[in-house]
Amino acid sequence: MTDDVVTPMMAQFLQIRAQNPGSLLFYRMGDFYEMFFEDALAAAEALDIALTKRGFHKGEPIPMCGVPVHAAEGYLLTLIRKGFRVAIAEQLEDPAEAKKRGAKSVVKRDVVRLVTPGTLTEDSLLEARRHNFLCAFAEVRDEAAIAWADISTGEFRVMACTLPRLAPELARLAPREVLVSETRDRDLAGLVTESGAAMTPLAKSSFDSAGAEKRLCELFKVGSLEAFGSFDRAELSAMGALVDYLDLTQRGKLPLLRPPVKEAPGGTVQIDAATRRNLEITASLQGGRENSLLWAVDRTVTAPGARLLERRLSAPSRDLATIHARLDAVRHMVVQSPLRHELREALRRVPDMDRALSRIALDRAGPRDLAAIRSGLAQAETVSKLLTGTPELLSQASAALLGHEGLVDLLDRALVAEPPLMARDGGFIATGYDAELDETRALRDEGRGVIGRMQADYAETAGVPTLKIKHNNVLGYFIEVTPTHEERLRALPELFIHRQTTAGQVRFTTVELNALETKILNAGNHALEIEKRHYDSLKGAILDQSGPIGAAARALAEVDLATAFADLASAEDWSEPQIDDSRAFLLEGGRHPVVERALRRLGEPFIANDCQLTKASTPAIWLLTGPNMAGKSTFLRQNALIALLAQAGSYVPARKAHIGLVSQIFSRVGASDDLARGRSTFMVEMVETAAILNQADDRALVILDEIGRGTATYDGLSIAWATLEHLHGVNRCRALFATHYHEMTALSGKLQGVENATVSVKEWEGEVIFLHEVKQGAADRSYGVQVARLAGLPASVVERAKVVLEALEQGDRDGRKPSTLIDDLPLFRAAPPPPAPKPQKTSDLEDRLRGANPDEMSPMEALRLVYDLKTLL
Ligand code: ADP
Repeated sequence: MTDDVVTPMMAQFLQIRAQNPGSLLFYRMGDFYEMFFEDALAAAEALDIALTKRGFHKGEPIPMCGVPVHAAEGYLLTLIRKGFRVAIAEQLEDPAEAKKRGAKSVVKRDVVRLVTPGTLTEDSLLEARRHNFLCAFAEVRDEAAIAWADISTGEFRVMACTLPRLAPELARLAPREVLVSETRDRDLAGLVTESGAAMTPLAKSSFDSAGAEKRLCELFKVGSLEAFGSFDRAELSAMGALVDYLDLTQRGKLPLLRPPVKEAPGGTVQIDAATRRNLEITASLQGGRENSLLWAVDRTVTAPGARLLERRLSAPSRDLATIHARLDAVRHMVVQSPLRHELREALRRVPDMDRALSRIALDRAGPRDLAAIRSGLAQAETVSKLLTGTPELLSQASAALLGHEGLVDLLDRALVAEPPLMARDGGFIATGYDAELDETRALRDEGRGVIGRMQADYAETAGVPTLKIKHNNVLGYFIEVTPTHEERLRALPELFIHRQTTAGQVRFTTVELNALETKILNAGNHALEIEKRHYDSLKGAILDQSGPIGAAARALAEVDLATAFADLASAEDWSEPQIDDSRAFLLEGGRHPVVERALRRLGEPFIANDCQLTKASTPAIWLLTGPNMAGKSTFLRQNALIALLAQAGSYVPARKAHIGLVSQIFSRVGASDDLARGRSTFMVEMVETAAILNQADDRALVILDEIGRGTATYDGLSIAWATLEHLHGVNRCRALFATHYHEMTALSGKLQGVENATVSVKEWEGEVIFLHEVKQGAADRSYGVQVARLAGLPASVVERAKVVLEALEQGDRDGRKPSTLIDDLPLFRAAPPPPAPKPQKTSDLEDRLRGANPDEMSPMEALRLVYDLKTLL
């Protein structure tokens, strides 16, 4: 073949390649997915696999790499995590069929699926305890909306959502992929990437709202969407684009989406992205789940229960009736602890029915998914029986768990106890389910028995006791002897027919063995066909019941969550919050669930604290002062977390809690603490503060930690001061405000509802001891110097700092400017440096210290310097 002739296979590849831009093409060739050209270069690098060459294209060798089909999921996961999308082109016919058409004709292939971050269904590609949302954002004139779906569970929702609300909603849902109109992709790219999702621009036509209505009606087989609620054009457009994309990626096989549920924007507590991050609700500032609130409170025993918990913590309710119903269920489970234990034992055996169901619908399931439905529904019945006489939420769940006996019985009879992962090799239909299948299998197995006898006969006939009958995929059954015995078989040519000679073996067959093989093969194939037929009809039986099965799965998750919350409350001694329509915020003995857990590991106690914001009049603000490291941030956050937990329907880490419904939670930290984000700029802090001042309503709970610290002292103080006044006078909300500007404590005398609180410390022999107790009143001083000493700052520096501080304080009292004071200070008398084992390091330390100017440092900066210095020791 000359170099520039395109082979038929390459022609097919190039055509499929051109039809699927923007993704890597996995091109199925036998037991491998092969990639060519740029795809091969990119994939080989991303997967760290060998890059080879295959044939020529336009005179150039074609780069190629491949992954075995049986291990493809692992490679797919890596590629998806690295931001690739993958188009999977399968062989659509048996290669034998292609051969029949002519020696040169290629096997029919086409893309059967596009694998993208938002459209995964395989367990190995998904996190069991997290949702995998695909979102679509649509704008139609003045309306805008967001729709989201998890195709691995069927959840499908939509909500009106203007552009300014998009970032907080993306922060709540944490989608893996966001669809936007290609006309808007540039404007939205930053916002979407910020949320951690991949952005996929779609043609404008995908967002056409008129077409969307039709598509959705077809999908849900209804004449009009009114049955599900009334949707405006933007909502239709967002839902339509989402469904359109599913159609595109799943190549016509639509997943089992539940009818869309419309969420009211005011139904849940509003929490923006910065607040979520700062309160470490579902992920810690380091990025992982560990040390987040979710991590500390998760006692669910099923994956769907864990996903429900994540949803609840991400979107606590604002509806009193809903919150009370959830708390009723938890209380029941707290009181009935033997029942709770029994339920949790039963729930532990509940598999992830949602995800099994979605794979069944998309034809990506295996026999184990059918078995998951069987055991899930069987357990549902057990759980339901335990739930008699329970509060409404649980008795509703109980009702949804019943009525599956028919299907459970069918699956029980049809499936073996532990079916294999893949349907391909059969062996999952139970004996006794189908007489024809049993007979066929007997025939096949009998044949295998006959082979055993045949081996003994041939060994005797040939006089070779070591003769074996073996099987492999290439030759089928064959007789094998070592070369020493070859002649004995060759001596009987009418019986033994030579097939192959390898290095250590000589292989033969016989007419009889061939006939038997055909019989075994036929019986085996026939048995597989019968199993496949049953597999399809069992799938059908399950899909017919997909609605009730989905409802049972949701009910089980609800029971799991209620019992998990109860288990947590009992183990951690949490109490039931009182939640009403008032403006109360009364917490007695509140604790921070994550810090408490961390301290427990160290064997240290957590000091519980009260927070009593309520005053007859709104607003109610606590101004918290106290030295660094005293526990201000911990206290601030624990109060927000307690409100959040309460409205999520959980008991709370406090002796007593009375909370008037909270509509929004805002939490901000002064810029210099925001280092983890790498954007420690004063500007960000101000933008975020502005968002609070512009948005907080009188039911908001606002937490501000050291706002204004990122700039010069007087600027910072003025900003903090004005911010507090605005919160008090305009927002009129409940707030906790931590600051190191002691000057601000004067505000409590001026503004009604503003009170001072401080985290107490004790001074003992010149050292500061943190008591972590929050009490009314202002801090007397900041103890920054003592904290610095605790951190290991050299004694000479601490002494010097004390002198400077005293001079400054004295100057302050005399009304003198700090700059004139500096001139009067006696010069620094450095103590002789201690003997240095590592001269290089010590000198770094000295350089760093010389360069530091304590007079211009905020306490936080001083503390950071101390940490830096310690690393240089
Ligand atoms: P601040 O904001 O005042 O600088 P933090 O809230 O960051 O202080 O707390 C500093 C450390 O003190 C925490 O990491 C924790 O180990 C400890 N701490 C804080 N609050 C408490 C408490 N209530 N009981 C026990 N230890 C606490």
